[in-house]
Amino acid sequence: MLCWAAAPLGLETHVLDPDANAPAAGLASHFVQGDFNDAETVFRFGRGMGVVTIEIEHVSIAALHRLRAEGVLVHPSPDALATIQDKGLQKDFYKKNGLPSAPHHIYKDAEALREAVRRGEQALPFVQKARRLGYDGRGVAVVRQHSDLATKLLDVPCLVEELVEIEKELAVIVARNAQGQVAAYPLVEMHFGEATNLLEILVCPADLPPQVAEAAYQLAKQTIEAFGLCGLLAVEMFWAKDGRLLINEVAPRTHNSGHHTIEACATSQFEQQLRAVLGWPLGGAALRAPAAMVNLLGEPGHEGAVRYEGLEGCLAIKDAHLHLYGKAMTKPFRKMGHITLLADTREAALEKAAQAKCLLRVVSG
Ligand code: ADP
Repeated sequence: MLCWAAAPLGLETHVLDPDANAPAAGLASHFVQGDFNDAETVFRFGRGMGVVTIEIEHVSIAALHRLRAEGVLVHPSPDALATIQDKGLQKDFYKKNGLPSAPHHIYKDAEALREAVRRGEQALPFVQKARRLGYDGRGVAVVRQHSDLATKLLDVPCLVEELVEIEKELAVIVARNAQGQVAAYPLVEMHFGEATNLLEILVCPADLPPQVAEAAYQLAKQTIEAFGLCGLLAVEMFWAKDGRLLINEVAPRTHNSGHHTIEACATSQFEQQLRAVLGWPLGGAALRAPAAMVNLLGEPGHEGAVRYEGLEGCLAIKDAHLHLYGKAMTKPFRKMGHITLLADTREAALEKAAQAKCLLRVVSG
């Protein structure tokens, strides 16, 4: 999607991905297959580029530092990325900068956490999160009772935080360029799958009291300033039942909570990311129409060559915009595409989203 946004801006794109069949392979001006955790591969790839950016956090930080030292523009900055890659450092960062987030403790492994519970230092219930490589709800364990300590804990360096009673899960994508210009996209409300922790449906605008919405925008702007980032920052937040607004986590890149911006906003998040990292003026972020977005996830029990059922029905919905990512193989809950539905009201957009979700199935064979 970044490559699509780059073409009309007259930009040449070079993409590095470990998978030779990556969706971007056919869209980038130049494609290189390689491991983005391998410092030498990333360094060789980035050398001589005008600007280097990322679409996933788990990239060799050492290589990004080396590229910067050679004069390559790297956004987000390797230091901010190192903080964000490690959820423990990320949480410490919020605390140090006075940014509200659920209180947390850090443990070296499952046994250290069990010991803290035994000594009465760690109360239940809580949420345990792997410090590294968590993604799409993998690496998150909800521990409600003592029996969960034997079965649910992740045996990795982790952080533990309060189990928040959530009223709504929200996200604000905010952009900032090198000149310090900042633009925030309209707040979205996210609905996650109970079992998968995956984003299933998103709706924009969010339905919130105006003072909560205003506080969320201010918090997103404060957060990007605190990190000093150029580019996008997706700030995921909890609006708790007790009224607190808490940062859950951030992503310094284009994000699933902004896919609807392609059709629903004045400038898509992908174009905005390019403008921001290049130091160009930011585009308008205003909402042109209420929107809902459905992630198209691989059906459980289906693994192999992908087949889509119900596509025609979906395309027949007025103002439905289909995006299939061109991944050849499906597996349970793999993100295979998304569909954005525009309407005159958020309720009508949500209704269309429910319809699309019923119609479309991502299966194998
Ligand atoms: P990931 O990085 O894998 O997306 P998150 O930290 O966003 O993981 O957690 C995934 C989901 O788990 C959240 O969207 C939310 O529904 C739930 N969750 C995470 N942290 C908490 C918490 N402290 N209290 C309650 N629910 C939480």
